[in-house]
Amino acid sequence: MAKYNGPICRACRREMQKLFLKGDRCFSDKCSFDRRGYPPGQHGQKRGKVSEFGVQLREKQKVRKVYGLVEKPFRNLFAKAELERGVTSEVFFQKLEMRLDNVVYRMGFARSRQEAKQIVRHNHILVNGKRVNIPNVQVRVGDTVSVEQKSRKMTLFVLAADLFGRRTKTMWVEVDLAQFTGKVIAVPKRDDIQMNVKERLVVELYSK
Ligand code: SF4
Repeated sequence: MAKYNGPICRACRREMQKLFLKGDRCFSDKCSFDRRGYPPGQHGQKRGKVSEFGVQLREKQKVRKVYGLVEKPFRNLFAKAELERGVTSEVFFQKLEMRLDNVVYRMGFARSRQEAKQIVRHNHILVNGKRVNIPNVQVRVGDTVSVEQKSRKMTLFVLAADLFGRRTKTMWVEVDLAQFTGKVIAVPKRDDIQMNVKERLVVELYSK
């Protein structure tokens, strides 16, 4: 599976916004964006006027980076959202949020979505009591997601639980961190997704 291996903090500087891609580090004074809040590269601070396409592209890249997807699966998910009833941008964000790796992150079992992907792939997660190791599986309302019993003592879950208290609460999941279990109680609405993004621009870009 294709994967981005470049410097992660560069993405925040490129999008001129904290994207919270690195767990604890994002809440510490080591955050690169807090220390160097300008675009990366030799001419990062000298960039001139951006075209309409450029603005749309940056918005799309921002969303893609937040969810840690490369272009192809990201676009495929958008294509699926277009086929469904409802407002495409809302359905698209619901599909991004309902990915298993994102749900694991939202429930506080991982410090970042990248870590959540790895946790799922390494067989630490159960959905409705069954092991699932595919990060892009769509979770449904009513599904229970939990950490495998044997894995619960692992340091990474303890660290994730510690960070959970400092993150913004997710309203569409119910979590019992002591039992490493959570339940999806509603479909996420746009207002539930705390992200500073103009989704209209992503739709415009992909509709060309
Ligand atoms: Fe972005 Fe987090 Fe890196 Fe800060 S520490 S630049 S918020 S990924």
